Amino acid sequence: IFISFEGGEGVGKSTQIRLLAERLGKLGHQVRVTREPGGSAGAEAVRHVLLSGAAEPFGVGMEVLLFSAARNDHVEEIIRPALAAGEIVLCDRFMDSSRAYQGASGVLAPEFVATVERVAVNGVRPDLTLIFDLDALEGLKRVRGRLPETALAGAPDRFEKDDIAIHEARRQAFLGIAEAEPERCRVIDAAAAPERVAEAVWRVVSQALAA
Ligand code: C5P
Repeated sequence: IFISFEGGEGVGKSTQIRLLAERLGKLGHQVRVTREPGGSAGAEAVRHVLLSGAAEPFGVGMEVLLFSAARNDHVEEIIRPALAAGEIVLCDRFMDSSRAYQGASGVLAPEFVATVERVAVNGVRPDLTLIFDLDALEGLKRVRGRLPETALAGAPDRFEKDDIAIHEARRQAFLGIAEAEPERCRVIDAAAAPERVAEAVWRVVSQALAA
């Protein structure tokens, strides 16, 4: 089973993935934790470019193509083989991040984003997607809180510098995806304490595993 974790900045995806992986591991499941952009050697190299100053001149079209190139490598090198081996794959961000970040920018034609997505995933789509929903300002506060002073004074990665309206638009884009694909997506309220959120995650995941 392939489970992706989606949502804006500071929603607590990484914490929840760690807690879920521990819980599944204790139950004897083989779990593969991975992330985007990155996850495979080639994709991590692209991540480095995308999240560094080198990406400043890139337009949104170039951005979505690079995220998608990395995604394709990640799918073929890591996710498809792990699924074939019967592992539970937990992925921090996947195709919905491209829909919400680059797709919702309003710059690209929806068919462009959809075509690139289809080519990149090459038939490997999540069975279940957990969309962590949190007020955009609250998410940004959490991100700021976790950055050391030096990072705050210096450069947070280029995608974290955007203003609150963009974060709110992305939040709405994620909610729109959940509404459009209710059989794949579940919205998780990310405002609660981590243990409470973990329980909500577990309810959804244990149901999916039993199905
Ligand atoms: O998961 P995390 O928040 O660490 O994501 C890394 C960065 O990549 C984020 O700043 C996110 O905004 C950005 N990103 C993006 N488009 C994607 C995937 C991630 O802009 N398709």
